[in-house]
Amino acid sequence: KAVRGLHNAAPIKPSHHPRITQLLIDGKFTDAVSGKTFQTIDPRTEETIVEVAAADKEDVNLAVNAARKAFETGPWRKMSGRERGKILYRLADLMEAHKEELAVLETLDNGKPLSLSRNSDVPLAIDHYRYFAGWADKIHGQTIPVDGPFFAYTLREPVGVVGQIIPWNFPLLMQAWKLGPALAAGNTVVMKLAEQTPLTGLRVGELALEAGMPPGVLNLVAGMGETAGAALCSHMDVDKIAFTGSTEVGHMVMKAAAESNMKKVTLELGGKSPFIICEDADIDRAVSDAHHALFMNHGQCCVAGSRLFVHDNIYDEFVEKSVKLAKKKRVGDPFHPDSEQGPQVSQEQLDRILRYVGIGQEEGASLQTGGARLGTKGYFMEPTVFAEVEDHHTIAKEEIFGPVMSIIRWKTLEEVAFRANNTTYGLAAGIWSSSANTLQYLSRAVKAGTLFVNCYNVFDASLPFGGARPGSGQGRDKGEAALSHYTELKTVIQRLPRNNP
Ligand code: NAD
Repeated sequence: KAVRGLHNAAPIKPSHHPRITQLLIDGKFTDAVSGKTFQTIDPRTEETIVEVAAADKEDVNLAVNAARKAFETGPWRKMSGRERGKILYRLADLMEAHKEELAVLETLDNGKPLSLSRNSDVPLAIDHYRYFAGWADKIHGQTIPVDGPFFAYTLREPVGVVGQIIPWNFPLLMQAWKLGPALAAGNTVVMKLAEQTPLTGLRVGELALEAGMPPGVLNLVAGMGETAGAALCSHMDVDKIAFTGSTEVGHMVMKAAAESNMKKVTLELGGKSPFIICEDADIDRAVSDAHHALFMNHGQCCVAGSRLFVHDNIYDEFVEKSVKLAKKKRVGDPFHPDSEQGPQVSQEQLDRILRYVGIGQEEGASLQTGGARLGTKGYFMEPTVFAEVEDHHTIAKEEIFGPVMSIIRWKTLEEVAFRANNTTYGLAAGIWSSSANTLQYLSRAVKAGTLFVNCYNVFDASLPFGGARPGSGQGRDKGEAALSHYTELKTVIQRLPRNNP
């Protein structure tokens, strides 16, 4: 309890405060047309950090018009790839110069430990811009031999005006995953930031202008999903929409696209990722990996290893060690250097997690530790572990998005592969074994967009990421693969003056 008491301490004063609270449209920060604002909340204290301009349909229209003008008249699309790359490199350098400010704002708005913002979110986002800056002058088509007196080749051209919608769990990183490939390829963008966490995204907008991004190329709207987000999805002049968020809203995004201009759609949605621990695993390392696979970012990860399948022969020992680790976790003010878990992002998320804990108990899973809110102020949640979870339990089927581990038993490889795949999701999976044959078997048998083998949560900018099955979305973020969603392939066939020599 002494360490858990961290959450009761007086909130630590952050060393940086948000300055940018307006929408970025056509190179200028502006209030919403309606003059409306919304509050962004400090999840440690439940108090308002600041009021932020709330975009609605009119603001989205203005932002799309600015993006269209910037796309059609340049200079962005007409600039050489190398020039665009230089601006993206400059943005990364500016983010690096302001990395502490970005980390502090991210922690303030989201509640994740400052150490995580500093060591993971901010550097990974910077890496991402650099990675795609490097691609900007390497996006090209092919020459293709054809029958007859023709010269044929393909060009990779930008898609046009791109709408992007991101969630609150990794605000800076999700922004980077989306903007990196879109901007490198020469598109112009209207991005809707998550209403829970608009602060760092807006600050990056300011840095992008400072880096030399021309007006209208990057437009940022903060606001609600049902208003600003929906307006972007059904806009007739948006060529493509890229969304990261819940599967439920993913359905709406696709429907809005279909019912408007049939814009292209890519979706990164939820998951219920299996992590399979074999009996020959290095148990301490596997326990530690499984812990981080689930508890990283307070369980608010789309890839969270939330169905932890542990072999029957090591099950009891594994549960005991996992419970011990969860009990040791230090929960408290994310600005405190000892804090390993801050508050959940919002009251809504905390309530949702507590509801799932109740359902887990009612349905017969065995609560080993945690299960309750910590304190009465701030959205702090006890690290929670359930054992004897069965496949049909709701907590083994639905995404909880919180610090709740569910440990499930298995006996044979064929059986566990089938059970791991028995879901509509397919975002990620993990396996832990010391047998090369077992790893080979499971690597092929398990369906997932990303498979972590004897590791978890490795997110290099160069690695494609996305859902392998419809419930987890379609398309890929990160890596070269992401570029294909942000370019149109143009096939050019030119008649040759005479037959080939
Ligand atoms: P959410 O779907 O409610 O919100 C995501 C974004 O969509 C927000 O910006 C929100 O304002 C917007 N939105 C909401 N309603 C909308 C609508 N009708 N039209 C257009 N936009 C709308 O999800 P959340 O609760 O913010 O985030 C958690 C979920 O996101 C989880 O299910 C998680 O798995 C998923 N997620 C997936 C990935 C991934 O890469 N696959 C990454 C992070 C989060």
